[in-house]
Amino acid sequence: GRGERIAKVIARAGVCSRRDAERWIEDGRVTLNGKVLTTPAVTVTESDTITVDGNPLATRERTRLWLFHKPRGLVTTNRDPEGRPTVFEALPRDMPRVLSIGRLDINTEGLLLLTNDGGLARVLELPSTGWLRRYRVRAFGTIEQPQLDALQQGVTIEGMIYGGVEATLDRKQGQNVWLTVGLREGKNREVKRVLEHLGLSVNRLIRVSYGPFQLNDLPEGAVDEVRGRVLRDQL
Ligand code: URA
Repeated sequence: GRGERIAKVIARAGVCSRRDAERWIEDGRVTLNGKVLTTPAVTVTESDTITVDGNPLATRERTRLWLFHKPRGLVTTNRDPEGRPTVFEALPRDMPRVLSIGRLDINTEGLLLLTNDGGLARVLELPSTGWLRRYRVRAFGTIEQPQLDALQQGVTIEGMIYGGVEATLDRKQGQNVWLTVGLREGKNREVKRVLEHLGLSVNRLIRVSYGPFQLNDLPEGAVDEVRGRVLRDQL
């Protein structure tokens, strides 16, 4: 990746402030790749080794989290064997390397969480985190609320149990219905399968929340970093 000013890197590691780091460098207390530095006007990357007063800097990056409004037509994978465009290619150029927390199908839109922390990604995408994922859904067909209520008890489709799906009928629009669907398990194609079971064919699927994080009015294709207190409180 691109380099960063060394004082900034030292400050982020929690050693001291950026100003202090600059002074300590001038005092000869910092080494870069084994050589004592005399000026803070140096950029470094993750492959550089830094010591402060002889102690190696802990290089682990702090955990960062972003909201991404995924447009239709992107696959949530690093490289698609069929060469279709990916979420990761669509991100702004100044983003560091990130992983997605779970996936959205190619034609699903809406909130996808991204993080630089692989451990966090693995934990948060587990069904056991129990985070509610909420979707706005347009489906071809017709249905009434009592049939949707049955989803709360769980349905078994081809031997797979889909439990605790909350679905409300918001409105009818021509030959379609709009629903809000909430689920906690995040099984593969869960929304489509469960609604298909009720005779509905999903033709638009937009994730509007994932646990405590909301899509709100984030524009399509845009990313927004979750910072500071919100991040510490939720993770
Ligand atoms: N359910 C689906 O059917 N597709 C998604 O992308 C997410 C949930």
